[in-house]
Amino acid sequence: MDERKAIILGTGPAGLTAAIYAARANLNPLIIEGNEPGGQLTLTTEIENFPGFPEGIMGPELMDNMRKQAERFGAEFFFGAVTSVDLSKRPFRITVNESDEFLGRSLIISTGASAKMLGIPGEAEALGHGVSTCATCDGFFFRDKKIVVVGGGDSAMEEALFLTKFASEVTIVHRRDTLRASKVMQDRAHDNPKIKWVMNHTPVAIKSEDHHVIGLEVRNNENGHTQLLEAEGVFIAIGHQPNTAFLSGQVQTDKVGYIVTIPQNTATSVEGVFACGDVMDSRYRQAITAAGTGCRAAMDLEKYLEGAFVHDWSLTNP
Ligand code: NAP
Repeated sequence: MDERKAIILGTGPAGLTAAIYAARANLNPLIIEGNEPGGQLTLTTEIENFPGFPEGIMGPELMDNMRKQAERFGAEFFFGAVTSVDLSKRPFRITVNESDEFLGRSLIISTGASAKMLGIPGEAEALGHGVSTCATCDGFFFRDKKIVVVGGGDSAMEEALFLTKFASEVTIVHRRDTLRASKVMQDRAHDNPKIKWVMNHTPVAIKSEDHHVIGLEVRNNENGHTQLLEAEGVFIAIGHQPNTAFLSGQVQTDKVGYIVTIPQNTATSVEGVFACGDVMDSRYRQAITAAGTGCRAAMDLEKYLEGAFVHDWSLTNP
């Protein structure tokens, strides 16, 4: 089995930026694409805040450009999801799709984060049949229909605004009476006449008939009354879970599962393993910040392979 100098897990903006930098450093990195090649940006529409694109750029196009840029400098891609890793020995052993194995002298983890689900009755069976976590992917199917969006953060505002292009009416359901979303996103949603609000209500169940969603049952947090919000589509936009289960505890994470890195760089608790993007950043979670950490991770990895990287884990608890 070949031993690669550098293996990168994930192809969102963090992984692809790391790939561009590692490839330009002649490290011929192997990139494991993951379940969602291109990451979360392939599930979005226009990106207006990625510097260098004054008119905006579509998410999938941006990711495709990054991938081509990495390939141009010699990055190799392997389609599949990492199922396990063995970081206890050198070289590191990476298992993809349960069966394909790769050895790497160094590793960058940029596996991102996945959409959280409500975990209420009716949700799992209706996923793909009226329940969705991606307005960009599924909004089209709800032309002139009523839609409910669950969540009070920026994602919920963004999804709701996007869905107004298709739906007859979009109702945002939030479990508190104040939103978590940024002011600008709140204002945009409030200014949109197609958006209705059901605040301070907790989702209880998703109701379906004949495999079609008919609405979301919610409970009023003040008086406990329940009601059915009629809708043919329910979009869940309540945040994300970092994709770190495959590490089975071999790299230190916080209690949610986000990888802990040394604050001054991208090193993890395992020497030679670096992390970047949403898998280690629960705070900024932007394409540009993910790309920035991807650049840092590749530069750290290059130094590590030269024997010039100082792994000072004590800096995580100064
Ligand atoms: P978030 O900020 O964590 O918001 C999640 C929302 O879902 C919160 O309002 C939360 O309620 C609610 N929620 C969580 N679990 C729930 C449950 N089980 N039942 C009902 N509601 C639940 O996540 P996000 O909106 O995905 O945003 C993540 C980050 O990405 C943020 O930093 C955001 O600014 C950024 N982002 C930015 C943009 C943009 O600028 N265009 C777009 C998308 C995301 P509580 O408020 O009660 O906790």
